Amino acid sequence: MAIPFSLPLIDDDVIAEVNDALTNTGWLTTGPKVRQLEAEISAITGTPVLCVNSWTSGAMLMLRWLGVGPGDEVIIPAYTYSATALCAMNLGATVVMVDVLDDFTIDPAKVAAAITPRTKAVIPVDMGGWPADYDSLHAVLEAPDVTALYEGATPRQQKLGRILVITDAAHSIGSTYKGRPNGQFTDATVFSLHSVKNVTTGEGGAIALNLPAPFDNEEEYTFLKALALNGQNKSAFEKNVPGAWRYDIIDQGLKINMPDLNAAVGLAQIRKYESQLLPDRKRKFELYLDGFAQYDWAILPPYRDAERESSAHLFLLRVRDADEARRDRIITAISEAGVGVNVHYIPMAMLTLFRERGYDIADYPKTYELYANEITLPLYNTLTEDQVAEVIHAVATAVEATA
Ligand SMILES: *Cc1c(COP(=O)(O)O)cnc(C)c1O
Repeated sequence: MAIPFSLPLIDDDVIAEVNDALTNTGWLTTGPKVRQLEAEISAITGTPVLCVNSWTSGAMLMLRWLGVGPGDEVIIPAYTYSATALCAMNLGATVVMVDVLDDFTIDPAKVAAAITPRTKAVIPVDMGGWPADYDSLHAVLEAPDVTALYEGATPRQQKLGRILVITDAAHSIGSTYKGRPNGQFTDATVFSLHSVKNVTTGEGGAIALNLPAPFDNEEEYTFLKALALNGQNKSAFEKNVPGAWRYDIIDQGLKINMPDLNAAVGLAQIRKYESQLLPDRKRKFELYLDGFAQYDWAILPPYRDAERESSAHLFLLRVRDADEARRDRIITAISEAGVGVNVHYIPMAMLTLFRERGYDIADYPKTYELYANEITLPLYNTLTEDQVAEVIHAVATAVEATA
């Protein structure tokens, strides 16, 4: 048996949609497939949605839109993939990491303690698909002493009048919080459509816009669409009509638009995401929950409570009382049984770039505690229920063999 950690869904629907792009629309860069993909994601989020070429570039676009740069601070959880930090560092901003809660999401009390007059944005992460504690976070950010501290420097910062909240929803398309779909938890929500995520375009990202009044989200969508295309107000597709040749460069933008060929892959998936693909992921997630419930060494990941429901992106299993060395031995044994697993995540403060910039894992004890005994299991649409059973068996055997 060999069970890879992750496989993208490339089925007949995906092949047919890509074929349609190649043979019928004949359009390769941003065009009709991208706009259809945006409409499909928009139907899930209930907001305008702009597609771009990655989560990282989408988050950079939103920070750029706000005018975040050198001297500004962006607060993120210490427990996440490095892109959450890099989107802000790439713009010259300072990243302030704070520790997380037991459920892997950013600790609102730690956010409160980290806010300064230079704080321009916070990026909570829905880890594994599990929404952060948004009510507590909003309460922190909207507290009168916090808003009084805020110093808006650009016109958009002044119009907003408070810290911007961008959800890192790389894992969490389709999750819900208090009955609301993801896309409406915060001001802007960025989904990743990278190959390992719940819905993929190979590489890609999507931004759901939920800015408060007096912002007009449709207007901001139109502006951001240009800003994602070198600041050009008309794409090649929109110009590809007789007489429509004239365009303008309205601002200094990035070049991060999504190609139609990529959109076609995601379009085939998103059409059946809520009806088939997401329920299928949840079923497998629940099989893992049931399978590990009998083991008292198993610490199970958050999945569903009265307010939140996960999008079942990652099954973040933890082995009670295991230290890093034992966790690594367990992973070796699981790998020898032919099962691909991963660790989400090596904390940024343990990676070279961040250590060299002065981040120290000792400042984030909960992050270290969660990381040290974490093992992420295979979870994807082409994984069979028999394979789920094999994974559970391989993990349990490995844990017991290393006890
Ligand atoms: C995958 C991922 C990203 C980056 O997504 P890209 O589309 O590859 O830029 C950001 N944050 C988290 C938590 C991720 O897992």
